[in-house]
Amino acid sequence: MTDRNDDLFAAARSVIPGGVNSPVRAYGSVGGTPRFLAQASGATVTDAAGTTYVDLVASWGPALLGHAHPEVVAAVQEAAVRGLSFGAPTEGEVELAELIAGRVQAGGLRPVERVRLVSTGTEATMTAIRLARGVTGRDLLVKFAGHYHGHSDGLLAAAGSGVATLALPGSAGVPAPIAAQTLVVPYNDPDALAEVFAEYGDRIAAIIVEASAANMGVVAPRPGFNALLAETAHAHGALLIFDEVLTGFRVHSAGFWGLQVEAGESYLPDIITFGKVVGGGMPLAALGGRAEVMDMLAPVGPVYQAGTLSGNPLSVAAGLATLRLATPEVYTRVNAAAARVSTALDRALTHAGVVHAVPHAGNLFGVAFAPDAPHDYAAALAQESARYAPFFHSMREQGIALPPSVFEAWFLTAAHGDPELEKIEAALPAAARAAAA
Ligand code: PLP
Repeated sequence: MTDRNDDLFAAARSVIPGGVNSPVRAYGSVGGTPRFLAQASGATVTDAAGTTYVDLVASWGPALLGHAHPEVVAAVQEAAVRGLSFGAPTEGEVELAELIAGRVQAGGLRPVERVRLVSTGTEATMTAIRLARGVTGRDLLVKFAGHYHGHSDGLLAAAGSGVATLALPGSAGVPAPIAAQTLVVPYNDPDALAEVFAEYGDRIAAIIVEASAANMGVVAPRPGFNALLAETAHAHGALLIFDEVLTGFRVHSAGFWGLQVEAGESYLPDIITFGKVVGGGMPLAALGGRAEVMDMLAPVGPVYQAGTLSGNPLSVAAGLATLRLATPEVYTRVNAAAARVSTALDRALTHAGVVHAVPHAGNLFGVAFAPDAPHDYAAALAQESARYAPFFHSMREQGIALPPSVFEAWFLTAAHGDPELEKIEAALPAAARAAAA
């Protein structure tokens, strides 16, 4: 039997490549018809056929407060009435930049003095890399296998997220000379890092790293690994680009960096990229760093970057409202919800006899069908990922929307209360049995 989602998917495929505007949405690795969403509110989403699900995707991260928080929506509506786009500086941009710089502080360290607003995480990391190259006068970039930083040319080598989900080696259309500027290193492997720096150290502009990997499943950095990256980069005159597009303002109000510094690690990234939560569900992302680095950007410095819609007033309004509402209580609530769901997930899979791990990084978690939480991309890929599709579909049939790939994190929000959490807990045992079959 087909429903409105099937009809829309058929129509979409005839006019949009694969029927979607971002590949992982197509359910390629789990099969079946993607749900075409018509509405989202709090902890739930409703599809085009009128079915409502408890949502664990949260728009792939931005919805920290839950979907369509009334105060965020009101802020966007008020901004819309004043004008959709100006292409000129606004007071809101100053407030948001100040808020970001002010939030990202821990242990007496303050890595963000200047902020540039852009529209997507891809733009933020792309700009960060150009900036690092401009600052150092070098070309090479070190990235980690399985890390995803958006879809710009040099960053698709051994990338996570949709590239991992679709088992793509990288991407067609990336010129070989550009791909050759990216040195891909296994994650969490100090020896491999030392080797690459021993060979290319004086030609490397930057290391780019996800603050914690979360696009090959959740794979936390080993203790001290991020600090080692900063130390290694700086010892060779390179910069550390710390990608907090996914983790920033989600795992802690000062990001994954803040979480680690509060836990006793001490290191300073040179450029930090933000996205997702910082735009509160609207297209907005940012990069920040110390003044001396950031002022290399045009119009002060020679590194060019621009955007017609950069600092869009509606996006800025959503970002400002979201960050102002992201109080310590919000993080306590999201952390508790994540702990509760991840515990129930672990229990259900154990009870069903499924070999698994529930990897964590702060309040981020996911599932891995492997005996131990993977520490790198090779281990993440080696898991029994085929178990995810039946698990996913069982959850969906029971009214829970999970990310349609085992390589994506599960996102809780401050809107997930007892009724939603109980519904997730009740659904997990049958899904675990489906994974065991
Ligand atoms: N960096 C990380 C760590 C991400 O998770 C993502 C998206 O998932 C990006 C960058 C790219 O952001 P966007 O999809 O907004 O371009």
